[in-house]
Amino acid sequence: MQSLTILGATGSIGRSTLDVVARHPDRYRVFALAAQRRDDALYEQCLRHAPRYAALADEPAARRLADRLATAGLDTEVLGGPSALAELAAHEEVDTVMAAIVGAAGLASTIAAARAGKRILLANKESLVMAGEVFLRACREGGATVLPIDSEHNAVFQCLPSAGRAGCGCPGVRRIVLTASGGPFRRASFEQMGDATPEQACAHPKWSMGRKISVDSATMMNKGLELIEAFHLFGVAASRLEVLVHPQSIVHSLVEYEDGSVLAQMGNPDMRTPIAQALAHPDRIDSGVTPLDLVAIGRLEFEAPDAQRFPCLRLAREALAAGGAAPCILNAANEIAVAAFLERAIRFTDIAAVTEAVLHAVGERRAGATIDEVFAIDAEARALARDRLGRCPA
Ligand code: NAD
Ligand code: MG
Repeated sequence: MQSLTILGATGSIGRSTLDVVARHPDRYRVFALAAQRRDDALYEQCLRHAPRYAALADEPAARRLADRLATAGLDTEVLGGPSALAELAAHEEVDTVMAAIVGAAGLASTIAAARAGKRILLANKESLVMAGEVFLRACREGGATVLPIDSEHNAVFQCLPSAGRAGCGCPGVRRIVLTASGGPFRRASFEQMGDATPEQACAHPKWSMGRKISVDSATMMNKGLELIEAFHLFGVAASRLEVLVHPQSIVHSLVEYEDGSVLAQMGNPDMRTPIAQALAHPDRIDSGVTPLDLVAIGRLEFEAPDAQRFPCLRLAREALAAGGAAPCILNAANEIAVAAFLERAIRFTDIAAVTEAVLHAVGERRAGATIDEVFAIDAEARALARDRLGRCPA
């Protein structure tokens, strides 16, 4: 029986995780559910899964949840405040932590799980982008295991021999190819993208996801962040990481070996597959995902990515090549710009412009060597990005 903490339980990945877990009550026990402030959603999840603990980062929301659960007669204990999330990630009764908070907000609790030596199911790619070395060191020192949830990285993980998985440089591997759907603006001109609304940007053709990652998919920053994620997870040089547009999202990524073999992992686009793979690894369990019907699909399509129309892809490559603090700065500026776009304060194409301006304004900077240094760099880049927002033409 695995005891599980789900960070970001109310989000898209959190809900998919609970869907898989509920199919296997003999294997998984929900120990704790944690989220930001949606006490209504967390209340329903507590009724359904009866966790030992529930936590909300927002303290007034946590008090509301505690009152409602007490009225309902449930003995789930409610904790409030950001430190509660880290506490539940590191709790001694927990084996596995699903790290599915979106953005930099997920770093502290994910690091806590790493230091406590948990089995980490990592959806929160921003942790690795911001603090790759600090996070991986915490995993090594704490004895934690990382299993990738991002569908591309989960696919690569499945295509690598077990010896090549732990960031040892993937011997025998020539290239790792991450597939990208191309997002909702795959065929749009740069000018058309300038007028895109948050609703259009969030209407992903293949995946149903939270709003931040949906916008990242539309700018293709998501694929850029994933290149940096793959660099840390698999320990291969940036020059051996490639992006291939595959609009159908059936092939989730590929590994090409020196002998010409190319291994791909396929499946319908549904995050319950990588979640179930990581939950059960090395076993296999039912995820509830519809079986793949290749006859119905008929053909698989691929095309090269266009870094002209999708400058975020280029910016992420530049940040990866520059190293040091650049990926952390890229991530922070992008988070501020995406939030401003979702609030209709800037245009879609300003997301790349703001991010690029902040990257250049900070210039070369060594990576944060500690978690506090990482947060300081993150805060500085956010302040610069906010300042830059004011200079975007309306
Ligand atoms: P989402 O917006 O649907 O959910 C985010 C979750 O994080 C919510 O439960 C929210 O309460 C919680 N959260 C947000 N800010 C918080 C804070 N300050 N403190 C505590 N909790 C906070 O996002 P999502 O689509 O589920 O994505 C989650 C992560 O998984 C992201 O890092 C994303 O890049 C990654 N991911 C998602 C998908 C997908 O299909 N949705 C695929 C691959 C990777
Ligand atoms: Mg992905």
